[in-house]
Amino acid sequence: MKRGYQQFLEDETTRKVADHYSARTNQTLEEREASPIIHLKKLNNWIKSVLIQLYTRPGDHVLDLACGKGGDLIKWDKAKVGYYVGIDIAQGSIQDCQARYNGDADQNQRRKKKFSFPARLFCRDCYEVGLDKALERDAPFDICSCQFALHYSWSTEPRARQALANVSALLRPGGTFIGTMPNANVIVKKLREAQGLKFGNSVYWIQFDEEHAHKKFRSSSPFGIKYKFHLKDAVDCPEWLVPFHVFKSLASDYGLELVFVKNAHEFVKEYLQKLEFVELMTKLGALGDGNSTMSKDEWEVASLYLAFALRKRPE
Ligand code: SAM
Repeated sequence: MKRGYQQFLEDETTRKVADHYSARTNQTLEEREASPIIHLKKLNNWIKSVLIQLYTRPGDHVLDLACGKGGDLIKWDKAKVGYYVGIDIAQGSIQDCQARYNGDADQNQRRKKKFSFPARLFCRDCYEVGLDKALERDAPFDICSCQFALHYSWSTEPRARQALANVSALLRPGGTFIGTMPNANVIVKKLREAQGLKFGNSVYWIQFDEEHAHKKFRSSSPFGIKYKFHLKDAVDCPEWLVPFHVFKSLASDYGLELVFVKNAHEFVKEYLQKLEFVELMTKLGALGDGNSTMSKDEWEVASLYLAFALRKRPE
């Protein structure tokens, strides 16, 4: 009885996440440039571009879990991938992604674009059931990407396991899993330093439930630690902490070994040593351009995230 009720609550929360993303409309370029977090958005795009360029080879087959509105399609095109499958739980996002892929997204004044790779897009919960049947004719993939979305699998242990089982089942041996997600260590540190259960700055806030009032996480289950995340002009929905040591060990159970993990600040510092990535940063204007520079508050939000790469053990 209790399990059924809990399951119902989890489904409700997942629905809230899906509805939130589904309802987000595409911004025009002018609206996007006026966003209070425009430099953060550009920085996140730079981080994803660097990850993609580091781990993708021409001709690779790509699985983009929780692909959203297809904001990374251009990045995959630049990496000259051979095939792309994008899946997302939000129907509205998949429709936008399909429109962008078809090149008919110009009602949003975005550049019309013809992509050089074939693609298949569909709407599905990536963490609830096995995807191997649905992707039978597409797998195996050389690379799987899950950007700013894996933490939505951490609501329960079965969902977290299903997410990793899907990645493992669909990647070829030796294939790579890249991603970005919130950094639980940074979030918990900020919570412990906070006066109450809420903290943030002018562009974001995070609020934990009353059950976390004593702020002790070590003894509790590492799954289902929920908080509400609000990021101006971007996110307003429930999320779950992903303790990275648990993620790393669970991933290893599914044959996925850690290649690297870096906090976003460290990541920026390291890859800004390379000329090609400096040029990309300048082109995107992420840290600053002729008009403005990234604010301290946006830079603080960047620190809440980490980037990782895992490799599926060769057989
Ligand atoms: N990966 C895209 C990007 O980087 O632009 C989108 C990131 S957005 C912050 C998070 C995405 O995760 C949303 O598109 C949302 O619909 C998707 N998502 C959340 N839970 C999901 C689930 N259970 N299955 C598939 N997609 C999910």
